Amino acid sequence: MRKISANWILPINSSPIKKGTLICDDQGTIQDILTEANRPPDVEQLDGMLVPGFVNTHCHLELSHLKGIAPSGTGLISFITKVVQNRDHDSSVILKAIEDYENHMIENGIVAVGDISNTSDTATQKAKGNLYYHTFLEMFDMMDEAQADQTFKQYDEAYNKFATHSKHKISAVPHAPYSVSPKLYELINAKNKANEITVSIHNQESLAENEYVKFGTGAFKTLFTSFGVNLEGFKPIGKNSIHFALQHLDSSKKTLFVHNTQSSREDIQAAIDWGQEVFWASCANANLYIENRLPDYQSFLDAGATMTIGTDSIMSNWTLSVLDEMKAILKYKAYLNFETVLEWATINGARALGFEKQLGSFEIGKAPGVNLLTQEDAHAISINEHTKLSRVI
Ligand SMILES: [Zn+2]
Repeated sequence: MRKISANWILPINSSPIKKGTLICDDQGTIQDILTEANRPPDVEQLDGMLVPGFVNTHCHLELSHLKGIAPSGTGLISFITKVVQNRDHDSSVILKAIEDYENHMIENGIVAVGDISNTSDTATQKAKGNLYYHTFLEMFDMMDEAQADQTFKQYDEAYNKFATHSKHKISAVPHAPYSVSPKLYELINAKNKANEITVSIHNQESLAENEYVKFGTGAFKTLFTSFGVNLEGFKPIGKNSIHFALQHLDSSKKTLFVHNTQSSREDIQAAIDWGQEVFWASCANANLYIENRLPDYQSFLDAGATMTIGTDSIMSNWTLSVLDEMKAILKYKAYLNFETVLEWATINGARALGFEKQLGSFEIGKAPGVNLLTQEDAHAISINEHTKLSRVI
């Protein structure tokens, strides 16, 4: 049994507790949360804030070996081209990078990951059970319906390589509104039908994406044509790209829209009205890395949207750290406050991935992980760019 006290405990689902104490068993399961008045003897006294383990709702762990391959600031089209050109490497290189960056996430206080996989490269590492994972087996046929069946079959093989583990979930997911044909959406929806899972989709990451789905023109058309993709089957819909996804996704599933840097107020509201449970993943540093633009968070707040935080891949970021994402968001969007963004990083992410019974808040019976945040002013409930994290549990 451990008795851990700090200047503040932030349970997330209730108010901060000044000089409180967490009582945890050896597995990290919370047995009790005590106020200063009920402080037991022999506590471990720490300086700073205790917060639950972080949930990273959007990552591509299998791309970890590509760190540094795409320079920052060159835009999404250039980035996609680099991924396609450089994915293949010796499998020992790929597996070592996956292991290294899982460790990196653990050191950065992350306890659960929503992980996009186009291959089964991460299956062995995930099977070790070091983290909770919701694997999103991601499919795309570049809107060419003739490719849908074969595409689905090819990815389904990878799907079956992910061993079932009590800390893991898996779903089939579409890549993005502009890259999946209606037929492939149908196959994906049928695959997920009986399962209690989340469906994730990259959404509105660039202006070119909206333009392509709306009018069928622009940089995406040029890119796909250069890849030799058959674009004849795609009919532009005259609306922003998220609407194409809403027409074809299963609205009864938890749905996680990722990036959303070009989502308008109307787009956000349309998605919230459409789905039973809609979540939004913000990957601030990756947005700054690739397109140098952040989402309009105020629009999401005004719509009552449920926000979460992702890191994206280490290919499009400097670290895989939810704390670094929070720092970036609070640096550039000072109208947001730390406690709001901390909810995004913990309980909202846990709900988005379906791990809210185990993770996301300090509640008796949960084992959410325990992070200590420290900075110069050890009594403040806030963070700044110098805030440091250490894992307590
Ligand atoms: Zn991504």
